[in-house]
Amino acid sequence: LIESLKALDNSMGANLKILQGDPAKVITAAAAKLGSKFVHATRAFDPAGVAQQNQVGLALKAAGIHLQLDDSYYAVSPGTVSKPDGNPYRVYTPFFKNWILAGWPGPVALSENFRWGNSLKSMGMPKPSGPSPFAITAGEDFASRTLSRFISKSIDTYDENRNRADLSGTSHLSHALAHGEIHPRTILRAIQGEKNNSPGRDVFQKEIAWREFYADVLWHNPTTTTEYYEPRYRNMRYDKGKIAKNRLENWRQGKTGFPIVDAGMRQLLETGWMHNRVRMIVASFLVKDLHLEWQQGADWFEKLLSDFDPASNAHGWQWTAGCGTDASPYFRVFNPILQGYKFDPNGDYVRKFIPELRHVEGPAVHEPWLLIDGHQHGYPTRVVDHAVERDESLARLAEIKLPK
Ligand code: FAD
Repeated sequence: LIESLKALDNSMGANLKILQGDPAKVITAAAAKLGSKFVHATRAFDPAGVAQQNQVGLALKAAGIHLQLDDSYYAVSPGTVSKPDGNPYRVYTPFFKNWILAGWPGPVALSENFRWGNSLKSMGMPKPSGPSPFAITAGEDFASRTLSRFISKSIDTYDENRNRADLSGTSHLSHALAHGEIHPRTILRAIQGEKNNSPGRDVFQKEIAWREFYADVLWHNPTTTTEYYEPRYRNMRYDKGKIAKNRLENWRQGKTGFPIVDAGMRQLLETGWMHNRVRMIVASFLVKDLHLEWQQGADWFEKLLSDFDPASNAHGWQWTAGCGTDASPYFRVFNPILQGYKFDPNGDYVRKFIPELRHVEGPAVHEPWLLIDGHQHGYPTRVVDHAVERDESLARLAEIKLPK
């Protein structure tokens, strides 16, 4: 966020005014000082953002100032697309069909005559609570360059490569989207090139629509950042106590003994980002192999992801845990070993993030326990037996299916 603010300040000719404190108080005081009748903001749709905007709106109203909330950080604002009977969609595909039909205006550019005001005093950049664990490059210019590079190099093979953890086949635009550095309408406009019907472009547009779908789901179900979307999963047996706590820590630190899981968790620790396919693998592992609740994993992601987004995180987790929207049934348990072979076929991704396995060549890195020297550089042994835990998770599923 701080890197993003610095870049914004640069792009505004050092005219960004930063106010720190309770937003309701500092914004109202600033607007009153300027004699403003209106304060404009982009409308928030996540529960925390909505609550904050309500507080600011009430404080401004008490001072006779109107809070004007405009548009959103989405191509189509959450709450706009609904079923013919007016109910919200619970399944992605029909949502997507109607999202396309709803359409959206093009991106808006700042008027050339615009001049930034100068009568407010900035309180300066917020100070980080500690050094950042990751190197982050942020800002609108960087986001635009990232988008251009993706369109010229990767978008037309996106459909084939997006699931490969070892390739850089995705856009890496999630940080910019999460921080409002690029609008999805800018992205959607830019991908309509000459080959605007390439399968890669179609699939990419569908991924942008997943972000919009989850925002819509959260808008209609604001408690689902922490609550189960399918409430019956609340009653499932989850592991608690010391062993569960230790396993959670192994998972967090990338020390479960399953290479693709550990590579993903270490990518998160080192870079603040994780490949989407690997997010699904580590999430499935936490819930179905370690029998922990999805919120424990989502909290860790929230702490570390530089692209943290309340809707995509909570519903990405719930989808993988089988308690969310759409069709990822709980009984589809990812096999972390097969997933490794399939989405990191030569083992390069694992070797990149797990130094203890760099001496193993080729795909054999996905099963170091089969090699004489697999653990010789300290790579941990497996915390669980996947086949046993798979059966265990299916047994626990059967328990909540029993008639009461
Ligand atoms: P690309 O593949 O290039 O996709 C382009 C954009 O489409 C992304 O930037 C993102 O905005 C959107 N998108 C793509 N896939 C998804 C998806 N499955 N769900 C929602 N939007 C999607 N994404 C976040 O932005 N923030 C999160 O906090 C987050 N948490 C997740 C947690 C879990 C357990 C899972 C399974 C997924 C999560 N995702 C989250 C979705 C996805 O993993 C990331 O958006 C993606 O990896 C970002 O990389 P990219 O920009 O290169 O994606």
